[in-house]
Amino acid sequence: MIFHILTIFPSFFEGPLKYGVVSKAMESGLIDIRVHNLRDWTTDRHSIVDDRPFGGGEGMVLKVEPVYKAIQSILPQRFHPSEEGNHGNTRVVLLSAQGRRFQQQEARSLLQYDQVLLICGRYEGVDERITDHLVDDELSIGDFVLSGGELPAAVVVDSVARLVPGVLGNVASSQFESFSDLDENGAPLLDCPHYTRPADFNGWLVPDVLLAGNHAEIKRWRAAQALAKRQKNRPDLTGGTNERG
Ligand code: SAM
Repeated sequence: MIFHILTIFPSFFEGPLKYGVVSKAMESGLIDIRVHNLRDWTTDRHSIVDDRPFGGGEGMVLKVEPVYKAIQSILPQRFHPSEEGNHGNTRVVLLSAQGRRFQQQEARSLLQYDQVLLICGRYEGVDERITDHLVDDELSIGDFVLSGGELPAAVVVDSVARLVPGVLGNVASSQFESFSDLDENGAPLLDCPHYTRPADFNGWLVPDVLLAGNHAEIKRWRAAQALAKRQKNRPDLTGGTNERG
């Protein structure tokens, strides 16, 4: 699977994608991450990618032309669809605070594409014609505003990459983690608490059940703990509110 990231700050990605599972997945060739500098698709002397907003107002707006040219060059198949009219199994996503909420199911759904292009916005926003004509989806990583789409793009790449078959050493790792399964009412389940040695630290004890070796009991305890944690931290997942008292 190939991830393309379109950004005005390519060196940003030297950090976040250089560690752990994602970096190993790149080394083993299971994923490829290609970071593109949007300024490479400008023609003026100063490589300008932004301009003032029509209608006035604060801030600058990311221009449509360089983004158009970049997509045309990175994913030319989208501009010459095959006879079946598909885009060569590609997906173009704009990271945006106004987008649909990115959740585990979106991460899983992106797995179906051979190539995913993530566009990192900057400034006050991006020219709406990018949204209207060039992207398949707008995704938000949460209800807050960041200064750029680079962190959200790294979040998307990390969460999708670890679902690519073969990336996690132990297949079960991605099957038994938060948001990987639903309860009988269709609400997402969270992971259970984990402990490791020492069994006693400062008098903070590991629950006896985990030390007793009864696997059926351990399974029951973990399921109950996962539900309790969801109730405490994320009652919104089951229709409640998550305001803490
Ligand atoms: N004026 C925009 C608004 O109120 O929605 C915020 C623009 S923000 C300063 C600049 C860029 O950061 C956006 O174009 C987007 O690419 C990215 N961004 C900010 N918050 C985000 C979020 N929660 N999820 C995804 N991308 C985000």
